[in-house]
Amino acid sequence: MLLTDPRVRAAYAEGAGIYRIIPSAVAIPKSTDEVVQLVRQAAESRLALIPRGAGSGMPGGNVGAGVIVDMSAGFSKLSIDGSRRVARAGASVTWAAVNDAAKPHGLRLPPDPSSGAFATSGGMVSTNAAGPRSVRYGSVRKWVEALEIVAADGSIRMLESGAGSRGRFTLTPDSRLLISSSYPKTRKNSSGYALNHFAESGDELDLFIGAEGTLGIVTEVDWRLDTIPAGVAGAALGFADLDSMTEAVPYLISLKPSAVELLDETLLRLLPEAPKVACLLLVEFERESAVAARGVVGDAVRGLKHSAVHVETAVSRAGLEQLWNIRRQASPALARLPPTQRSLQVIEDGCVPLDALGAYVAGLRESATQRGIPVVIFGHAGDGHVHVNALPDVTRAGWHESLRGLFNDVTDLLARLGGVPAGEHGVGRLRAGVLERFYGKDIVELFRAVKRAYDPLSILNPGVIIPANDWSPVAALKVGADAAAIPDDIAGKLRDVERSAAWATPKLELTR
Ligand SMILES: Cc1cc2nc3c(=O)[nH]c(=O)nc-3n(C[C@H](O)[C@H](O)[C@H](O)COP(=O)(O)OP(=O)(O)OC[C@H]3O[C@@H](n4cnc5c(N)ncnc54)[C@H](O)[C@@H]3O)c2cc1C
Repeated sequence: MLLTDPRVRAAYAEGAGIYRIIPSAVAIPKSTDEVVQLVRQAAESRLALIPRGAGSGMPGGNVGAGVIVDMSAGFSKLSIDGSRRVARAGASVTWAAVNDAAKPHGLRLPPDPSSGAFATSGGMVSTNAAGPRSVRYGSVRKWVEALEIVAADGSIRMLESGAGSRGRFTLTPDSRLLISSSYPKTRKNSSGYALNHFAESGDELDLFIGAEGTLGIVTEVDWRLDTIPAGVAGAALGFADLDSMTEAVPYLISLKPSAVELLDETLLRLLPEAPKVACLLLVEFERESAVAARGVVGDAVRGLKHSAVHVETAVSRAGLEQLWNIRRQASPALARLPPTQRSLQVIEDGCVPLDALGAYVAGLRESATQRGIPVVIFGHAGDGHVHVNALPDVTRAGWHESLRGLFNDVTDLLARLGGVPAGEHGVGRLRAGVLERFYGKDIVELFRAVKRAYDPLSILNPGVIIPANDWSPVAALKVGADAAAIPDDIAGKLRDVERSAAWATPKLELTR
């Protein structure tokens, strides 16, 4: 059951993100019973298990030195119950597959990760994934009805919304007070166990959503679905400076948009067809009719006529697709960068309260300049949540230290602005050691208590969320002279996967 061939282990040494860590073995279970056997074996011999979907997660929760458990293929059952509006999906089923099957019923899973073509149900639940439309519909947490999991003791359990925690983990009144005062007030958060949601619902389901494979292995997800709205329209709004953009966002939010996406000038300047503005907001409105959607776009444009310096509108789905096309040019533009300039995700997922968005973007630009590392900034402005790709020249002496400096600067900046280090990608190995900066010692102690309650032997993804004793964020990199040695052909294929976002490729194919 455990594959130990060095080429297979090499093929699983990387995910999206910065790390290359060669696992000791790989398991590719085909059934829940096989997962149970694996977990029992791991508990007996104290093996670390690293659950993994497509491997598209960025902060290193999908790589590690233990046994990779590849859940991306064996759990592909999918059924739609149109009358109950529920999709029952195996852990391997992608967001795109759920939506393709739901569409004939007039239904969809509203949060829309850009990685939906390959992100698996198990991976999305475990990172509390989100997307542009999360500004209106929230992260996937809101859309999970139930999970089937294999727990750390090898039992198969159903975790259902409304079912409580059956006493496995409870909070004292003092802990509840602490949680309500310590959690940052951001619109999105995938940074550690969601004790705030657990305090409200009492459901252990809320602890497992976003747990990054550290509490159990997800084998099946019941997704709640929503009706596809009939009317859609939108606009592209350009601003001459960050302040005008930051002021526009709350106004747009008051109009209940389904997406408010930012393209900052750091990205726009790489896109030949982009308007020459300091930042561009792409806005989408969904309504029950086309007329209503068109009407609200008119309200948006009228309300911002004094601050927007560039305005384009679209009143149909096709027109909107065209308007948003500019966003799709970002990945090819990054792929055209010279091979010495790598796109590395170390500060890629910070989220701040909405009123701090301008200060956050300005701080990011400043720190990047000071550290001599170009960055591109884009993402979910309506949630105060922006992605940042750091683009160091990895042939420049000292780039590694500069990258570490950038990580530290941006962590400080986020903490100062009342933000969180991850809005949707999770903590992984990268950010495990900084959580105390955001929540304080006592909340991190509660995180440890959650881990002990569900995985007392720490066999499930150790080092993720709860930091390893030798935690070092910008280490074990896939680039640079110190990268772990793997066969050249596999390194090349992993690089191709990353460049073309071919995360759906079965990893065993890379060994052939
Ligand atoms: C080009 C690109 C665009 C992206 N866009 C978005 C976006 O718009 N929104 C967004 O939220 N994310 C985005 N991501 C990040 C990533 O796609 C998501 O985090 C996704 O949810 C990960 O799914 P996965 O199947 O690849 O999981 P993996 O990367 O394999 O795993 C992610 C985490 O989940 C755990 N895990 C995976 N499967 C299971 C399971 N069955 N049981 C228990 N734990 C499990 C792993 O241990 C790991 O900690 C993007 C990534 C890329 C490369």
